[in-house]
Amino acid sequence: MTRPATQIAKRHGIIFILSAPSGAGKTTLYHRLRKAYPEIKLSVSCTTRARRKGEVNGQDYRFITVEQFEAMKSHGAFAEWASVHGNSYGTPRKPLDHSVQSGRDILLDIDVQGARQIKQVYPNAVSIFLLPPSLRELRRRLAARGTDGKEIIRRRLANAQDEIKERIYYDYYVVNREVNEAVRVLSSIVEAERSKVSRVTDWRIDSLHQRAR
Ligand code: 5GP
Repeated sequence: MTRPATQIAKRHGIIFILSAPSGAGKTTLYHRLRKAYPEIKLSVSCTTRARRKGEVNGQDYRFITVEQFEAMKSHGAFAEWASVHGNSYGTPRKPLDHSVQSGRDILLDIDVQGARQIKQVYPNAVSIFLLPPSLRELRRRLAARGTDGKEIIRRRLANAQDEIKERIYYDYYVVNREVNEAVRVLSSIVEAERSKVSRVTDWRIDSLHQRAR
């Protein structure tokens, strides 16, 4: 995978947002993207939801109380926040601003409400929506998750269909038909966004110009 030409051009860090309805395979792709681009920082959200088995505090999320969340909210500590499935989630503002300023790209795994807020505050952020290849495949993936009853699967499918409607507010969509293919498309989005002339804040090739004259 090629890396940005940091010697030639300096730019701000890019905020990449990845959202997906459940069943689209976001977790797998998120990890694959991390592997391909280990230099991309991961935003660690704060949440009031209970920690699940295997989750690490400070790594997967910062697990905080409702009171702590409200205090952070009132201090303007979140770049965005939303209520998802009855719990509060928020993206801490400081690490985000620090990444942008220091030229380090950062990846946010947030829902559609959060993506909209981030785009308002950081218009240069890049939002990507992951789609399942078909409704039939989505149904199959949701049903394959465990031993859930028909009613739960039906509700999850209805939720996912509502979430899919929000795709039109994103910059890019990626269809997760096959993981390697989806990673390839995601990677090309990262590369293209990194290569945008409009993102460059400082060209470092003036000396090359002079030598060529
Ligand atoms: P889970 O609780 O299953 O980890 O995540 C539930 C949903 O919350 C996912 O769609 C995830 O993308 C979203 N989410 C996680 N962190 C944040 C956040 O900081 N802000 C927003 N708006 N959504 C988040």
